[in-house]
Amino acid sequence: MSISENLSRIYQQIEQISRQYQRENVRLLAVSKTKPVQAIEEAIKAGQRAFGENYVQEGVEKITYFAENKAIEWHFIGPLQSNKSRLVAENFDWIQTVDRLKIAERLNEQRPEHLPPLNVLIQINISDEVSKSGIQIEEMLPLAEKISQLPRLRLRGLMAIPKPESEPEQQKIALRKMKELLDRLQQQFEGIDTLSMGMSDDMASAIECGSTMVRIGTAIFGAREYNKQ
Ligand SMILES: *Cc1c(COP(=O)(O)O)cnc(C)c1O
Repeated sequence: MSISENLSRIYQQIEQISRQYQRENVRLLAVSKTKPVQAIEEAIKAGQRAFGENYVQEGVEKITYFAENKAIEWHFIGPLQSNKSRLVAENFDWIQTVDRLKIAERLNEQRPEHLPPLNVLIQINISDEVSKSGIQIEEMLPLAEKISQLPRLRLRGLMAIPKPESEPEQQKIALRKMKELLDRLQQQFEGIDTLSMGMSDDMASAIECGSTMVRIGTAIFGAREYNKQ
């Protein structure tokens, strides 16, 4: 299957699941980490506009390559070390993995004036896994309060990578919790419109539970070759 065939199949699936659960405006983030620019080019030709990258350096190289194309939206979705924050602030449109105030403050200071504010999602450690990044639920409102005061950032919502579960009912426990958290955030802050959750194996459950952005890599671009990293 080609990238464009994969994409049109996934667009159809998103549309069908959205109709079934009466959800609207679910966007597809194409996760292009480790994939060459040729693969991204093919996806752009097939109509895809939003791309997710996990590694700062690799992402910046691709953003530079596609700099002429202003319609593309770049999301940083990997863990971010402080010493790389400037590259994210200067190059990306979104960061989905903000999990501490210090990194938010750096991004705010480093976001260039000629660019619109950087769109931010707070990452929640929803399955409470010790090794995973993201904040605890209780930390959400205090962190959101602080981020909402940073003028060069624009808080848009939440992101999570729940612990993998094969059964939809199990998947939906964490996904429903995320939707409740988003609702709570929406009650207190302006401009909250994004809930980023759902990957290849839990896309349907995520849309059912209120995801507005599913992040899909392998099902679009095929398996990743990590030895290239
Ligand atoms: C890699 C990655 C994805 C996509 O995973 P696939 O299994 O390739 O669909 C989604 N979200 C994040 C945060 C990722 O790192």
